[in-house]
Amino acid sequence: MASGTVNARSVAAWRGPVVRSLHMDMAANSAEGRQMTRRLGLGIDYGGTKMLAAVVDIDTGQVLGTSKKRSRAVDSSDELLRRLYDLGDAALGDAGIASNELTGIGVGIAGQVDAERGILLGTPNLSQATVDLPLAASLSSHFGVPTQLRNDVQIAASGELHFGAGKGIGDFLCVFVGTGIGGAIVQNGELVTGATATAGEIGHLIIQADGRLCGCGGRGHLEAYASRTAITRSLLGDLKRGRESILTELIPAPSEDAPGGTAIRSGILAKAVAADDPLVTETIIQAGHYLGLGLASAINLLNPTRIIMGGGVIEAVDRLFEVASTHARREALPVPGRGVEIVKAKLGDNAGVIGAALIGADAA
Ligand SMILES: [Zn+2]
Repeated sequence: MASGTVNARSVAAWRGPVVRSLHMDMAANSAEGRQMTRRLGLGIDYGGTKMLAAVVDIDTGQVLGTSKKRSRAVDSSDELLRRLYDLGDAALGDAGIASNELTGIGVGIAGQVDAERGILLGTPNLSQATVDLPLAASLSSHFGVPTQLRNDVQIAASGELHFGAGKGIGDFLCVFVGTGIGGAIVQNGELVTGATATAGEIGHLIIQADGRLCGCGGRGHLEAYASRTAITRSLLGDLKRGRESILTELIPAPSEDAPGGTAIRSGILAKAVAADDPLVTETIIQAGHYLGLGLASAINLLNPTRIIMGGGVIEAVDRLFEVASTHARREALPVPGRGVEIVKAKLGDNAGVIGAALIGADAA
């Protein structure tokens, strides 16, 4: 970091030490230095199946209040906004603070956003009716504070960078396996966003030429083989073809219409693997192999110090994490493959809301 100037970007990259030194300057320069103001951010993590909000002390990462709602893909734009306002208001209420005490709001979205203009582009998983919604401006006007939009994995990476498994690690890659597979790249302590803010989209690495159709319309992409949605689809197909599995006892009537591959939840997959169910174990190992191929390509390309893996299915199913890590090291070039650490995310479900709060607060 350049010395002499401390701007929002550099505070974002090196929050810990910079914030402490800023506070020390405040204490030294001000008679009221002892009475330090807390900097609070509202973080919102808007995913394909649920939305979470939290009021976060952005200097300590402490979560002061939370709220949670289900996402509904059938929402109109107005309903989507109303749901977000209610969600934010509930988190503020839980924390016992008013919106004018916030430094800013950050929103992470499981879909494409125009981060620069604060616009939510079309996102079928969240609201089929919504196209080009000026989400940041709407939230700013409702809550009266600046708002920033990012994709959901970028906010989670920011949370892990400052308070989780990425703390003190300048170069890492976050990979979150859920409805899809999202990724975010951190280099030199900063998020790499790329020319169009879409860098890190590991879910759309091509791992099979002319392979399975991906949700994005492309073919042979990683998330069509190793996301929870892909695992679920493969299992439902096998059950339909009459394969025996403990799943028929655990979920007697799986709903194929459940959003985001939630017909078979991560906890159920974990139970089936723990019971040594051959079908589920085989499917998880296969998904793990594919995930390993994607990680190996990422290791060769980026040579990261660490890969941080998260998402419900990674947290619940150790086997998937183990197979993917082992396979990634085996398939990567020897030098970067030996060097990389592959670990699980530390902040769990909170990574997104904490990271979003951090990003939002820097908007001020
Ligand atoms: Zn794709």
